[in-house]
Order: sequence, then C-alpha cells, then structure tokens
Amino acid sequence: MNKYQKYLPTKSNILVLAPHPDDEVIGCGGTLLLHKNLGSIINCVYLNRSEQSRFLTGIPLEERVKIREAEAAKVAQELGVSNTHFLCDLNFKIKDDLLKNSLAVFINKKYRPDIIFIPWYGDDHPEHVLINQYLSEIKLDMDLLKSTLVIGYEVWTPIFRPNIFSNITDVLQIKLSLLKMYHSVGGDSYYSEAIKGMNRFRSLYVYGGVGYSEAFMEMSLRDYIVAIKKSFH
Ligand SMILES: [Zn+2]
Repeated sequence: MNKYQKYLPTKSNILVLAPHPDDEVIGCGGTLLLHKNLGSIINCVYLNRSEQSRFLTGIPLEERVKIREAEAAKVAQELGVSNTHFLCDLNFKIKDDLLKNSLAVFINKKYRPDIIFIPWYGDDHPEHVLINQYLSEIKLDMDLLKSTLVIGYEVWTPIFRPNIFSNITDVLQIKLSLLKMYHSVGGDSYYSEAIKGMNRFRSLYVYGGVGYSEAFMEMSLRDYIVAIKKSFH
C-alpha cells in the first residue's frame, strides 16, 4: 500500500469528537463539507464550550456559554451536523467517569458511527489529549472496534505521519467562512490565514502542491486505541 493515499469520501455515518467548538472546522471542516454534499449523517460531540478561553476574559460565565453555544449551533447547521452535544456541564467540571459514560453511550448505542473524527492522539492541547484518553478507556462494542474507522485530524500539532489527504480546494472558502463564525475565540483573526496555510502545505503530499488539502491519520478503531495507549506510556 502506498504510504500516502487520497481520501475519497463516501456516504457515511459520522461522529465528530471535538474538544472545543472550532476544532471540527480547523481539523476536518473541509472534509465534513464534502461529506455533507454526499448526504452523510454527521453528529458532533464537544467536550466543553472553551468558555475559559483567554478571548472571553471579562465576560460573565453565563454569557460566555450562550455565545459559544450559539456559534457552535450556527456552524453545525452549515456543516450539515444533525445533533450536537457537550460532555461537560456549564461550570467546566470534568467528572471523568460521567463523561466517559456519556461518550460510550454516544458511540456504542446512540450513533454507532462508521467513522469517528477526533484530534489525533499526539495533539499537545491537554483537552485534546483528554478526549483521546477517554476514548481509550471506555468499553467499546466489539463490532465497532472491527468495523469503525478513526480519522485523526490535526489542530494544534501537525500529524507526524499522516496517511490520507482530502482535497478540500472546492470547499476551502466555505471552511474559512465557518471558522470566521467562531468570532468569540478569534476565528476571524489570524486563525483562518494560518489554517489556510496548513491546508496549502498539505496539498504537497498527494495533490502535487495544487489547491488545499486536509491531512489525517486513518486506522481502524481497534488499532487507534492501541496507538493511543502506546503514546501515553
Ligand atoms: Zn480545541
């Protein structure tokens, strides 16, 4: 098998795990737009609302929550996301067992996805690490372990060895406009140019440096869990 492959999306049942509203756009927004156009089912589980973001300093908590939920809902609609959920409660309390239990229900019972998108396990942000830790610690359905694909996306730490690349040239402008909708956490400032630069760089791998591409680490759910555990030890 070639080390680098083109990602050719097919109609799928997708669950996006995003620690914060904006990660889903930064890491896989273009690819989700391609899936939306194919009629894929897309649902999204966030860890929290990044209500502690430095961008929101000085705004009362209740207001921060309102702003972030409204932004996420607007973006979800544009991305074709059917349902969104937040694992953490409004006070940013991380109660590991409760959160893990909810995550297990979303994966094993409620959505049973063909594909899980998640920030790849090497991403440095502590809450991006946390969602990977949760995924590795919950009891997953045996059938899903065999059949579900994990597509790890890059947010704050580029993937060391990506293996699939999605050509998002046709939807890049929409992706950038979605990022800008996350106005409250700086999505309309330097972020969009930086992410565009990353997607431009990733076009060098299998698209001859033409256009824009999102890079991913794709593997079976079972192999991905093994990879997370290895990386944590
Ligand atoms: Zn994040």
